[in-house]
Amino acid sequence: MCGPEWLEQGMKHVWLPYTQMQTTLPPLPAVRTDGCTITLADGTELVDGIASWWTACHGYNHPHIHQAVSAQLIRMPHVMFGGLVNEPALTLARRLAAMLPGDLDRVFFTDSGSVAVEVAMKMAIQYWLNRGQTGRTRLVAFRGGYHGDTMATMAVCDPEEGMHSLYQGALPEHFIADLPVNAAGMQALDTLLAQSAGSIAAIIVEPLVQGAGGMLFHTPDVLRTLRELADRHGVLLILDEIFTGFGRTGTMFACEQAGIVPDIITLSKALTGGTMALAATVARTHVFDAFLSDDPLHALMHGPTFMANALACACANASLDLFDTEPRLQQVAAIETQMRDELESCRSLPHVVDVRVMGAIGVVELDRISDMNALKSALIAQGVWVRPFRNIVYLTPAFTVTRSELSHLTKAIRTVVSELGQAAPHRR
Ligand SMILES: *Cc1c(COP(=O)(O)O)cnc(C)c1O
Repeated sequence: MCGPEWLEQGMKHVWLPYTQMQTTLPPLPAVRTDGCTITLADGTELVDGIASWWTACHGYNHPHIHQAVSAQLIRMPHVMFGGLVNEPALTLARRLAAMLPGDLDRVFFTDSGSVAVEVAMKMAIQYWLNRGQTGRTRLVAFRGGYHGDTMATMAVCDPEEGMHSLYQGALPEHFIADLPVNAAGMQALDTLLAQSAGSIAAIIVEPLVQGAGGMLFHTPDVLRTLRELADRHGVLLILDEIFTGFGRTGTMFACEQAGIVPDIITLSKALTGGTMALAATVARTHVFDAFLSDDPLHALMHGPTFMANALACACANASLDLFDTEPRLQQVAAIETQMRDELESCRSLPHVVDVRVMGAIGVVELDRISDMNALKSALIAQGVWVRPFRNIVYLTPAFTVTRSELSHLTKAIRTVVSELGQAAPHRR
């Protein structure tokens, strides 16, 4: 391979995420992005089907976001949030509170999704402590769930994906249950909560779609069941909308489809439209009120150095402007219809076990992917940036993807999946 010098020299020194660096294909050098296009160092253009881990919902390099960040950069890129506040952060907090359902009114800013989830966990645990209930230190989380990569969040991920056995002894133990998708599941969760509510601070779930766990869908009814069980047994409900928030499932927030309000919600990924790192944990009034007292130790003991970064908050405000001024939810609805039409024909291909679409999420699930490297290379050869994982090939494009770009993406998936069917019996 003959790439730019920075690639060769730098690759000896970076450690890549989720990568067995001895056997995985080398990463591609990206040098430019625009709209739904990623340009590589050799000039190759790829149509992006993933929107950079689901963040770039307006496409890359949107001029409105650029202007907002540039203007803020000149005024004040960052100022500490301890004892000082800044206009972009306070404006963003007010806007998020106004957009979110119910009295989700109090915003705590952090700089990554995992930390936002950790803050939600701390809020839930300290909520009970501040109310004089000790011993409520555990969470109920679900198989197939994903809530982050830090030690505390790994402990509420799916036990296999979260590598609970590998890290045994290093992770706190929580209750990992099956999502209550039927009467038996509901009964099992009801029983768990009846027996253990005294040790449980909260239930945590990704509403409607378990993303990194394999793009697994469930119905709004499941969320209504969780809200009901949390109320019945007196535990808090945390919705992790880091993936689903900001239109991805067809509504601004997934919980709107169930008509429920969680006690705490976490947001990140598309919060800034994919330009800057930012996350938020938003609590209802009764959660916030439990931290008000004349005891300084009842305060929320958390404060990342770069929290409420003015550049990132200005960027998020610009992203919210675009949801107001451009027809994002209609675009999501159109993407949903087109993906349903165009991915459906994959269902009859060999190895395909399911095709499912919700909002701007399209999934082709295979029985297994035996040669991941070959599949990834085949997708790139089709001129698309699509990242299969586990046993799924999926699309989460920018909401601004054009009809023809989306067709290019779905066609590429259909082509590589059908080649997989033909090649499989001969290979290895
Ligand atoms: C990505 C994600 C996280 C973790 O966010 P990071 O910014 O990667 O730490 C947590 N929860 C969900 C649902 C996510 O999709």
